[in-house]
Amino acid sequence: MTDSHASRHARASKVIPGGVNSPVRAFQSVGGSPVFIRSAKGPRITDADGREYIDFVCSWGPMILGHAHPSVIGAVVQAAANGTSFGACTEAETEMAEAIRDCVPSVEKVRLVCSGTEATMSAVRLARGYTGREKIVKFRGCYHGHGDSFLIQAGSGAMTFGNPSSPGVTKGSAQDTLLAEYNDLDSVRALFKACGDEIAAIIVEPVAGNMGVLVPEKGFLEGLRALCDGRNTLLIFDEVITGFRLGLAGAQGYYGVKPDLTTLGKILGGGLPLAAYGGRADIMDRLSPVGPVYQAGTLAGNPLATAAGLAMLRELRKPGFYETLHKRAEAWEADLRRALKNAPIPWCINRVGSLLTLFFTPGPVRDYDSALTADTKAYGRFFHAMLDQGIYLAPSQFEAAFLSAAHDDEVMERTAAAVRKAVLKL
Ligand SMILES: *Cc1c(COP(=O)(O)O)cnc(C)c1O
Repeated sequence: MTDSHASRHARASKVIPGGVNSPVRAFQSVGGSPVFIRSAKGPRITDADGREYIDFVCSWGPMILGHAHPSVIGAVVQAAANGTSFGACTEAETEMAEAIRDCVPSVEKVRLVCSGTEATMSAVRLARGYTGREKIVKFRGCYHGHGDSFLIQAGSGAMTFGNPSSPGVTKGSAQDTLLAEYNDLDSVRALFKACGDEIAAIIVEPVAGNMGVLVPEKGFLEGLRALCDGRNTLLIFDEVITGFRLGLAGAQGYYGVKPDLTTLGKILGGGLPLAAYGGRADIMDRLSPVGPVYQAGTLAGNPLATAAGLAMLRELRKPGFYETLHKRAEAWEADLRRALKNAPIPWCINRVGSLLTLFFTPGPVRDYDSALTADTKAYGRFFHAMLDQGIYLAPSQFEAAFLSAAHDDEVMERTAAAVRKAVLKL
């Protein structure tokens, strides 16, 4: 089985760098060859050899209804029959924008784009255009897509100017990105003290999901809001993961903090390429063709993607959807804690709603440095012990596990049983 994936990966690697179209799909940090997927249904994915797995990656978030949900598939098939792209206005785009505005209280106007990366890049450009300033604050360990401004990691601490952590990012871009520490308002205050009148925006994942799940501590998001207020600095919540994950109003609804701009993606498109950025109307109206800030897209608001997204949102807006999902997630965490009781090495779990990370470190994990204390070798052993039992987890310690509404009791029991066995391999 593994051998056939190895040969598929070897073939792919001849024509695709690393054999993958997104580095997170590679098994670099856990070892072995990536699994090639043929199809998926509900909580399960099937590999190219016909082997089934219970899936906790869920396409990195979009599949909150489970795979191939009939409403979403039906909507896509119907839309496809009417043509796949027009490069002209459709009413579905307006419906989508209205649905987002109705769900997310801070959003008065919204632009549809094709990926989370496009949404964050565009939101930052707009923030710069609106404020007439160039610098942004981001948090170490937060991911906002692969735009130049975001690929910056701290070299020597939070208060220094960033160095590019990816070759190809210019020094100029790196200098305009200031790094702060997640859950540490003092690190942000220090940046404002040093160059407050140059900061266009703070961008943050309100619940960090890309260094594993990190919970915002009480007062952190409120503190960011307060720091931006009165300084002409915009607060951008990157809700590409948390949007429609923690509730219809995303993390801003969950925590009751209102950003100026919000980015959405992943769940929004129901598994098709759709993302969005939106916020206050006076800011959004700085976009072309009304205002001078340029952003465009041939496939933006694509009819298949908007059809999938609208079908997705109709399901999510059914009464009780999130209550049920969150209850299930709570039970999932309790199951995991029981199954891990006899683990021979320390661990901790961070969870918000249906996002969860099991870290192999005593914890608490509350910022980038504490996340880095996790034992990635142990995670690799755990990952493979789970994969061997037909459970597909993210091939990296520093990712979230995503629960879907399709993960039923039977699936959860099988998962807990697998964890009890995997623990023996730690
Ligand atoms: C996935 C992600 C992005 C990037 O979205 P893509 O669609 O992969 O470009 C941006 N921000 C966050 C928080 C994400 O998790």
